[in-house]
Amino acid sequence: MRKRGLFGGRQASATVAASASGLSPDALAILDRLPGEWIIIAAQGGVYRASKEFGTLGLLHLGGITSPLLADMASATLRDGVSRTADLPIGGAEVGAPPGTVRVRTSRLDEGHTLLLVDDISAATRVDAMRRDFIANVSHELKTPVGALVLLADAVQEALNDAKALRKFTSRMQLEAARLSALISDLTDLSRLQASDAMDEARLVSVKSIVNEAIDTVHLVAQDKRIDIVRELPAGLKLFVDEEQAVTALRNLLTNAIRYSSPHTKVTVSARESEGYIELAVADQGIGIDPEQQARIFERFHRVDPARSRQTGGTGLGLAIVKHICMAHGGEVTVQSAVGVGSTFTLRYPLPRVATATEREGS
Ligand code: ADP
Repeated sequence: MRKRGLFGGRQASATVAASASGLSPDALAILDRLPGEWIIIAAQGGVYRASKEFGTLGLLHLGGITSPLLADMASATLRDGVSRTADLPIGGAEVGAPPGTVRVRTSRLDEGHTLLLVDDISAATRVDAMRRDFIANVSHELKTPVGALVLLADAVQEALNDAKALRKFTSRMQLEAARLSALISDLTDLSRLQASDAMDEARLVSVKSIVNEAIDTVHLVAQDKRIDIVRELPAGLKLFVDEEQAVTALRNLLTNAIRYSSPHTKVTVSARESEGYIELAVADQGIGIDPEQQARIFERFHRVDPARSRQTGGTGLGLAIVKHICMAHGGEVTVQSAVGVGSTFTLRYPLPRVATATEREGS
């Protein structure tokens, strides 16, 4: 008796006559309704049918399958009936798209056909790679201060009778410990942000109070460097935000503005309403950022000058946190900068529409 294929079921048999190959139109209709892409390979290795979008994966050329691995898998499955799975790299699905990964599973349909089910797992693979990179980066970042602390503790033991050396080593230990603590605090912020939905805690908050709170936290550092923080805030502006997060974002920008500026300069915090958004800008007269670097500074642990960032207590996570907060609120952060002139970072939050209308009525 002829062996039944995967789709050679009873319901399908009534319409089997429509297909010379023995694959029923019903079976093909079912395949068409599957969420992923698929292809059926005939016994001679040619393509029998494929889903509509299959061609865009770059696995087909001139009616044949381009990957020798897939062709081998299909013929092996046809021979022994054993399903196989493989992950394959593909070029971007569209011109200019980044390369991706597909997961392919083979199943024998009948003696003459093998079905290949293809899932695009590019996004999941990219997230996995990012997670691995992140863990490697965090380990590296933690190793630096911890390694320094171990060496300094050894040095302290060697210098127990030398008060001057002891002072030097212990003050460096304090610095490394502070670095470690800043890194842990930024990592905690980042993981808390990722675990929560900013809009759960969102409420209407005045821009003035967010700015005042953020300035309060950096006030002493600015004073130490004789940097003047100037506010240019119109009255009545409100944001619909998670207040703690909005303060964190602004505080990170202010910390950087102070960190990357020379003493006796000015940092300006301004706000305005523009095209459905409220913009909060932090402008400094600092070292500025090279145009090529401007797109990368929002990546985790990316620093233009790693030595300077470490020296001044930077963790490389400040702007990644800012970007995350803005995006979680449906906004964005942008930068305009010129080397040697200064930088302006702008936070854009969507205007709280209903509330703003009410506010206007009231004012
Ligand atoms: P860091 O903790 O190193 O400051 P961030 O994520 O806050 O990390 O910033 C990333 C990098 O962007 C910094 O290392 C610095 O090179 C650059 N940068 C950020 N803000 C400024 C600024 N206001 N002026 C000049 N460079 C800046």
